[in-house]
Amino acid sequence: AKEDGRNTVRFFNPEMQQGVLERLALEKSLRIALQEGQLRLFYQPQVDHQGRITGVEGLVRWQHPQRGLVPPGEFIPLAEETGLIVPMGQWVLQAACEQLVRWAQVPERRDWCIAVNISGRQLRQPDFVAQVVQVLAQTGAAPELLKLELTETLLLENPQDAIQKMAALQKYRVRFSLDDFGTGYSSLAYLRDLPLSQLKIDKSFVNNLGQDDRATAIVRTIVTMANNLGLDVIAEGVETAEQQQALSANGCLIYQGYLFGKPVPIEEL
Ligand code: C2E
Ligand code: CA
Ligand code: CA
Ligand code: CA
Repeated sequence: AKEDGRNTVRFFNPEMQQGVLERLALEKSLRIALQEGQLRLFYQPQVDHQGRITGVEGLVRWQHPQRGLVPPGEFIPLAEETGLIVPMGQWVLQAACEQLVRWAQVPERRDWCIAVNISGRQLRQPDFVAQVVQVLAQTGAAPELLKLELTETLLLENPQDAIQKMAALQKYRVRFSLDDFGTGYSSLAYLRDLPLSQLKIDKSFVNNLGQDDRATAIVRTIVTMANNLGLDVIAEGVETAEQQQALSANGCLIYQGYLFGKPVPIEEL
């Protein structure tokens, strides 16, 4: 008899069995995607209050031979679980750094920074710092133009480890942005201790701007706090001119969202 309860249940439950098979198939095709170069990095502009692009966020896509363009929400969670996020995140870093080097040749783009998302599992790798430093050295990208986006939730998993790695990378002039700010539960003490350069106001606060006075109050509070801590502040998910106006009226002067451009392949930027 099977001692392993989980396997037994899965074996006798057709729905769950199908789930497992689907996951295995997805995992396999994700490995192939990495090997065969099916990942794409899309770029979404980040714009200042005068409409100038200051940088981009790189967002991964999977160009699946049959299914077409697959959004990250459909494969990042499994990549996290299986550990494939580590080579995938490495690919993203490499692609971003290569792009920075190309832009270094273009006068009007040489100051643009690229922000990339770092997953928890990726940050927890003991050689994470060495990996980032190696990609920078090998590509020759300017470290101060690379911005790593971390979430509060991720940082709270192991604050000491995160702080130590961030501090090490900060010595190379790599910068950090706290993504989805306001949705996690980070205490203000962490904000003080983390070597951040930017807070990114979560889309959920931007959504309600203009309709909900509390959303405005939250934005104003985040901006004031960021200013006092010497941090930049950017708002994500800006879709309307009204939202942008409310943000700028409350001191947030960098924006990212469909109002300025969706994530697109590099040729379309
Ligand atoms: P995120 O880091 O919060 O990225 C912002 C998401 O909001 C992106 O979705 C972007 O396309 C979308 N977005 C941007 N502007 C607007 C807007 O005005 N309105 C609306 N409704 N949405 C907007 P996307 O590209 O599907 O990425 C989803 C999430 O997947 C990201 O959320 C990030 O957590 C994760 N992700 C994307 N690329 C990577 C990656 O290279 N590595 C890791 N670890 N995670 C990634
Ligand atoms: Ca992000
Ligand atoms: Ca975000
Ligand atoms: Ca968000």
